[in-house]
Amino acid sequence: MTDTTTDKGKKSFLDETDKNPSHVMPEKLTLDSHLKFSCHPGVSCFTACCHNIKIILTPYDILILRKRLGISAHEFITEHTVPTYLEKTDMPGVMMKLTQEKNGCPFVTPEGCTVYADRPSACRYYPVGMADFHEGGSDEPEEEKFFFLVKEPHCKGFEEDKEWTIGEWRADQGVEVRDEMNKEWLRLVMRRKSFGLQATLSEAAKRMFFMASTDLDTFRKFIFESSFLETYEVDDETLKSLKEDDIELMHFSFKYLANTLFGAAGLNIRKEKIKAKVEEIKQRQDGVLLKAEQEYEELKAERKRLQDEEAAGK
Ligand code: SF4
Ligand code: SF4
Repeated sequence: MTDTTTDKGKKSFLDETDKNPSHVMPEKLTLDSHLKFSCHPGVSCFTACCHNIKIILTPYDILILRKRLGISAHEFITEHTVPTYLEKTDMPGVMMKLTQEKNGCPFVTPEGCTVYADRPSACRYYPVGMADFHEGGSDEPEEEKFFFLVKEPHCKGFEEDKEWTIGEWRADQGVEVRDEMNKEWLRLVMRRKSFGLQATLSEAAKRMFFMASTDLDTFRKFIFESSFLETYEVDDETLKSLKEDDIELMHFSFKYLANTLFGAAGLNIRKEKIKAKVEEIKQRQDGVLLKAEQEYEELKAERKRLQDEEAAGK
């Protein structure tokens, strides 16, 4: 089960609910269920949940925030994030780097969030969690989703009178776009989680996952300036969009990672590459066979020599 809840005060939206089950209300909700909640500068706890937090950043969060700040992905990653592992796996990711003096988000002020319209996914979900069984790696076409509330004791938002349906709350927070943008990336992490650490993932594969998930500028260079296009078939229209459109590039990176890390369909290797690989394997096999034949012949000759020696000795 994937919990896409955020609880900014205690855990990230990639953490599991069972880590802190007492704050998760044991009721399955739908988009039509009701919620009484409001978060605004008048609440006594205002911005409390922007401190002492772990905010995991998704590739989409990074893209949107670094555009907002007008800096490169590399600059953003270096200045505003610290490395972490995702969902208790060995998949590397990043989380927001908190300030030294107050252990708070670098974007919080007493007046509130200075990047509110572009705030990360994790800051949008609380207090409505979503459980999505599909993301656990199942290929069932039917997605089983439901919602639930996470009530942190320090959060005074629940004492406010404003009432919403879960659907209205989610629309207000703009989480549907985030769900859509983060879905495939989250699936990669959940796949890794469901495979378990017994299945090895090379260091090179982890580095590629990190690069593609955090630095789309470098991933674009990788596509256009490495032997990538000699290996994979990518049509001209897709190539054009990968050059110009960061969102397309991000979705392509998820497809590439699913293909290379988990063998998912979606990317085709060029026929000549496959032919060359088959030829290489065949030659290697031919070489191995030749060597085995030679060894066999040598053994046979040695056996004959020993037999002759034995016969001569008699
Ligand atoms: S990005 Fe904004 S909402 Fe999120 S923790 Fe920072 S200040 Fe708070
Ligand atoms: S009401 Fe809840 S969500 Fe809003 S600032 Fe307070 S703790 Fe954070």
